[in-house]
Amino acid sequence: MKGKIVILGGGIAGISAKLINKNALLIDKSKYMIMAPRLIDILSGYPEEHAMINRNADIIDNVKNIDFKNKSVILDNNTVNYEKLIIALGASQNYSFINGSQYIYGLSSIEDAIKIREKFKTSDNIVIIGGGYLGIEIAGTIKNKNITIIERDKRLLTGLPDNFHICAEKILKKNNVKIIYNSSVKSVAKDKVITSDKEYESDLTLFAGGLTGNRIIGNLNITNKNSKIVVDKYLRSLDYPDVYACGDSMSVENYHNIPMSAIIARSSGITAMYNAMGNMKEFRANNYVNIVEIGNNYFGSVNNSFIKGNVAKFIKKVAIALSANYARSI
Ligand SMILES: Cc1cc2nc3c(=O)[nH]c(=O)nc-3n(C[C@H](O)[C@H](O)[C@H](O)COP(=O)(O)OP(=O)(O)OC[C@H]3O[C@@H](n4cnc5c(N)ncnc54)[C@H](O)[C@@H]3O)c2cc1C
Repeated sequence: MKGKIVILGGGIAGISAKLINKNALLIDKSKYMIMAPRLIDILSGYPEEHAMINRNADIIDNVKNIDFKNKSVILDNNTVNYEKLIIALGASQNYSFINGSQYIYGLSSIEDAIKIREKFKTSDNIVIIGGGYLGIEIAGTIKNKNITIIERDKRLLTGLPDNFHICAEKILKKNNVKIIYNSSVKSVAKDKVITSDKEYESDLTLFAGGLTGNRIIGNLNITNKNSKIVVDKYLRSLDYPDVYACGDSMSVENYHNIPMSAIIARSSGITAMYNAMGNMKEFRANNYVNIVEIGNNYFGSVNNSFIKGNVAKFIKKVAIALSANYARSI
């Protein structure tokens, strides 16, 4: 391997890349890796530290811009040159397109989780926009409130097999969660959510309607789709052969519906690093473990076999603990 490899972002994809090549330089704005699945636990009362994993980045600084022509990364306090660059800056939530977005709460950081947890205390009516993973898992943490999920599709967990939807719907209905299908949110006010055909009282409106790549990427001089860098099957940018992307920051050309998940982040981080080191390894997306948690109900699939109950819970907890251990080991 020749030259310096720089990794931007020390989340699951970035640390997986770094573990393959400890000589690479890892840059992250945060001292901790945030374990996103555990943000849900914070909503139900766990301390913040539960989702903050100690990991060593080589430089703690915010990535402001990238000068691809001169191969340099502009940080708040420094400029770093690279020979090869791996971009693993994760995702952002974007709900600014909804009228009244100032009344909406997103969940992508510890601060978000704390704000939402506080707001639970004074909210009786809670509306969740989106019935994907995030929306239904959040609904599972909320007790003794009137919860409404507004989903634009005719089912929950779009893109996953029907038994995921059936199982999720059964659990949520048992918990008295109201689910509105085929409905899109038009605007949000302080005390209500307005859809194309109805208004819903809401003291707290949460957004779980999807993620884009990190919004910084949308402003870079590189081909991207929804702020995800478009890469080929080797995870190389279409514009710059010395730039790779992985995890939630990548959109693989000609590959549809790659989930934004920890397993994909890990496998793509590893592939990106191998290729940055001079190999030509094709990325194959295989999200072989997929576990959903609604309150204390767990279900999902392992290698396409449906599982639920304690086995599913065990697999999810072990997977999260393993990712935390990987992070601590760099
Ligand atoms: C609430 C929630 C729950 C989830 N639950 C699950 C689940 O149960 N199972 C599952 O498989 N997936 C889950 N996911 C998705 C999963 O967490 C992501 O797909 C995965 O973390 C993506 O890894 P990544 O490395 O691409 O991004 P991240 O893990 O988000 O890492 C991005 C890193 O980039 C750093 N960064 C960002 N911007 C900058 C900047 N400007 N300068 C410097 N550093 C920067 C961040 O600090 C972060 O460390 C969940 C996501 C969320 C939001």
